[in-house]
Amino acid sequence: MELKLYDTLTREKRPFKPLDPANVRMYVCGPTVYDFAHIGNARPVIVFDVLFRLLRHLYGADHVTYVRNITDVDDKINARAAQEYPAMPLNEAIRQVTEKTDKQFHDDVAALGCLPPSIEPRATEHIAEMRELIERLVASGNAYVAEDNVLFSVPSMPDYGQLSKRPLDEMIAGARVEVAAYKKDPRDFVLWKPSKPGEPAWPSPAEIKAPGRPGWHIECSAMSMAELLQPFGGGLVCDDPQKNVFDIHGGGVDLVFPHHENEIAQSCCAFGAPRMANVWMHNGFLQVEGEKMSKSEGNFVTIHELLKDSSWPGAILRFQMLKTHYRQPIDWTRKGTDSAAIELGVFDIFTEGVRSRQTRAGKVPEDVLSALADDLNVPLAISVLHKLAEECRKSDDPWSQAAHDLRASCDFLGLDLSEVSYRKLYERQHGRIDESRVSDLINERSQARANKNWKESDRIRDELAAMGVVLHDTKDGTTWEIAR
Ligand code: AMP
Ligand code: ZN
Repeated sequence: MELKLYDTLTREKRPFKPLDPANVRMYVCGPTVYDFAHIGNARPVIVFDVLFRLLRHLYGADHVTYVRNITDVDDKINARAAQEYPAMPLNEAIRQVTEKTDKQFHDDVAALGCLPPSIEPRATEHIAEMRELIERLVASGNAYVAEDNVLFSVPSMPDYGQLSKRPLDEMIAGARVEVAAYKKDPRDFVLWKPSKPGEPAWPSPAEIKAPGRPGWHIECSAMSMAELLQPFGGGLVCDDPQKNVFDIHGGGVDLVFPHHENEIAQSCCAFGAPRMANVWMHNGFLQVEGEKMSKSEGNFVTIHELLKDSSWPGAILRFQMLKTHYRQPIDWTRKGTDSAAIELGVFDIFTEGVRSRQTRAGKVPEDVLSALADDLNVPLAISVLHKLAEECRKSDDPWSQAAHDLRASCDFLGLDLSEVSYRKLYERQHGRIDESRVSDLINERSQARANKNWKESDRIRDELAAMGVVLHDTKDGTTWEIAR
């Protein structure tokens, strides 16, 4: 089966050829840990988790390395720490904020059915590599020191801008917002900056005496290098440019410019490499009820509150996310969650028997796999799941092959149906079913039937139907279930 992926760099869908099929390497920009992750942050985590699962299927679970970083050095973290713990020394406050947020993020994405990545580097663990990259860039004339900052010199890289393909005047206009006097070109960006007293600080690259801290973009160049490229020739950086490329780099579409553009500039110039990654993948943006998510608008939806306060099972939120192709924008609505719940609830009903008694091996159908291999066409794969559910509906056998395959396909997509009880979902929409009332009515109906009072028996059946309860008369008595 041929995997095709859309590459933002070349703007085309191409067959994917790993550099080394024994070690397929993917890097995805992870969260900056200063606040609860919102449902938009969940999108790249879920999308690239599906790709991770597919790559493991295609190349073998031990032949894929997925790196997703934690950004634990950032001005936003410092600001949040100072605001939340004003009496604490800043570094201690930062530790509190990052540890708390980090744990929350991991709990949230695990509840969304995401596998842990192979490696989760933290920026603070790779400061040495950042310094080494920066020193290389200064030595090669791609960066310069100005007032204890190190800046990347954009004009030193003739093909800067290849990923976002932004016109030069637009990039200058964007950069001008906060252009500092020491910048030689308005597009130049910070690799290293001085720390104020009390702020986190590390020994600076050569030529700068005062301690400082890295800029955001260099963090990802350093972490992807440290985890995905082969150390060579004794140094941290490999001197063979051809070896300084990995397979896939991902993140949200908002990162294309400037973050990924700048990562490419840093990595390619430091290594003399033609590319940083062979394929650049970006998920579309998510908005909430038709509006851009923002705290001031009051429509900021965290994963935590959806899971805990609204008590939606993670599998339903994951399914809602996956119903839209990863490159399309999503409008995240409450109505969308309701319909995702119903659809997944139906999958649960039809595979309930399989959960308790697997009678044969379930197999993910070829149609599902080929849809996924076509640039992660999950919506098409889901349409195959609906066809399987339809087959189950028509079958009298609760252990049909279709039921096994449907369950296997949900597992493959990381959708844990055991969390999705159809009864619970029904009750969310229609109110709780009073079980003792149901059994009283069933007893009354049995009595009516024994007395051959068919009119009364039918009336009771209708009353139960209005409560959403369907009866099945068997030779052993009457059983009931929730209407589908
Ligand atoms: P941040 O912590 O803001 O750097 O974002 C972490 C990841 O979430 C990045 O890959 C972003 O592109 C992605 N992201 C942030 N907001 C959204 C959104 N509203 N929709 C989709 N992806 C987003
Ligand atoms: Zn990054």
